[in-house]
Amino acid sequence: MHAALAYTELKPGVREALGELHVVERRMAGLEDYFWFLKEQWNRGDDLLVVEHDIVANPQAIQEAIQCPEEWCAWRYEHRNGEFSPALGFARFRRELMAREPDLFDEIGKISDGRGARIQDHSRPRCWQRLDVRIHDILGERGYTWHIHETPVEHRLWSYEEVCF
Ligand SMILES: [Zn+2]
Repeated sequence: MHAALAYTELKPGVREALGELHVVERRMAGLEDYFWFLKEQWNRGDDLLVVEHDIVANPQAIQEAIQCPEEWCAWRYEHRNGEFSPALGFARFRRELMAREPDLFDEIGKISDGRGARIQDHSRPRCWQRLDVRIHDILGERGYTWHIHETPVEHRLWSYEEVCF
């Protein structure tokens, strides 16, 4: 399993919390960079742990990611509305699932519905803003359900001024 860590600005403790895991890091410079980065990480023949730049993992969550037999797992973390729900911030995909769905990102790249986009530019295909929902929706349409882990990971929430780049 390797961790894919895309960032614009790493929050303190994020990298350290991943310990001995093999981490592939990439600095994001544009709205589509996260899409292209994850597309590259998808189906590399290795289990994939997605970790976002403001999520601080813990040993228990990492152990679950390694050991849980489910193919698509996601961990709860706190969101700005105060809810603890899973999203793409800390999620693990098994190699078997990715091998079965090699075209996931090709399909995502075609969607430009702008649903829920906070600013106009974020409605375009491949924007990071809707990537989590699109992965969730398309895998759902293909019959997958994520396995939700109740071990929370820490979300170092950004201030409103920091949210959009
Ligand atoms: Zn699981």
